Amino acid sequence: MTAGFSPWQQTAYERAIASLDEGRLGHALLVCGPQRIGKRALVEHLAKRVLCLTRDADGEPCGQCRSCKVFAQRSQFDPVETRPDGSLSHPWGHSAHPDMRFVGYEINQKTGKPRSEILIEQARDIGSWLALTSQFGGAQVVIVDPADAMNSAAANALLKTLEEPLPNRYLWLVSAQPSRLPATIRSRCQRLELALPGQAVALQWLLDQGKPRADAEAALAAAQGDPGQALHWLESGGMTVRRQVDADLRAIADGGGSVVEIAQRWAADGEAALRLRFAADLARERAARLTDAVETRRLARWFDQANRVRDLLRTTIRADLAIAGLLLEWRTGQQEPRTGARRA
Ligand SMILES: [Zn+2]
Repeated sequence: MTAGFSPWQQTAYERAIASLDEGRLGHALLVCGPQRIGKRALVEHLAKRVLCLTRDADGEPCGQCRSCKVFAQRSQFDPVETRPDGSLSHPWGHSAHPDMRFVGYEINQKTGKPRSEILIEQARDIGSWLALTSQFGGAQVVIVDPADAMNSAAANALLKTLEEPLPNRYLWLVSAQPSRLPATIRSRCQRLELALPGQAVALQWLLDQGKPRADAEAALAAAQGDPGQALHWLESGGMTVRRQVDADLRAIADGGGSVVEIAQRWAADGEAALRLRFAADLARERAARLTDAVETRRLARWFDQANRVRDLLRTTIRADLAIAGLLLEWRTGQQEPRTGARRA
């Protein structure tokens, strides 16, 4: 077992190295799977392996050679590059290895703000860089993460590189939404899929990370079986936000909470999208427990509405007003049966 790998990372990794060792690993690899499943750590380790100058008996990177040492030297650019959701573009920083390149969301030098897509210049750079001679005389690796952030001009520019593979040059595309990539790109890549593990494996992994069983079970259920997402919510306070959303929705339904006050609180701190996601999920969970068809349909409508409001948050709309409208709808729907207006 590779240090730090989850069982599902290990499975995918073993598939990749089997192809690699048999000379079947193509020049281009599309590494896909849900967000936070561990794609990036997997490809970085694969890169370390490919670049290592003196691999051990198992073929694993030695950790001691010139390549491994410089590979491990990491730093963030200044200003630090981030994704649109605020997380780091390169979670462990850029590598100092001269034959390793990470490509992702950059900072717009003119505005100082993070870009919302990967541009054609970045894609062209990949092609010209891969055509250079390797500094250490071995492989050269480019990791593009997330590859689906390439705009269409960038994807077109990258096609040329994909069509003219060079020996010992690797181009690895990481994506949680591979369907957003043009079919022309997908068809030229070998696919490496990190699949969600079964419930028991996922739960055991969370317990192995030191999470109490009750917390782990609740987070895993909230994340619909995605252990990476569950761990993230446990560690980032997401599960606390979810419990608060649940309490707010109950208070509104009971007629106890002020819709305006709650809407303002939901909109105030940059977590509005997360709250709306949880609210939609809670409505769906509630609908799943019900047998009343009218009520189930109403919750399904509200679920759609919550997702629409979440999309609207990216526009210039007043978030607190949009959320207040949604919560008002929640209250009205909840109170209906009690006022005697039950239709079913
Ligand atoms: Zn090494």
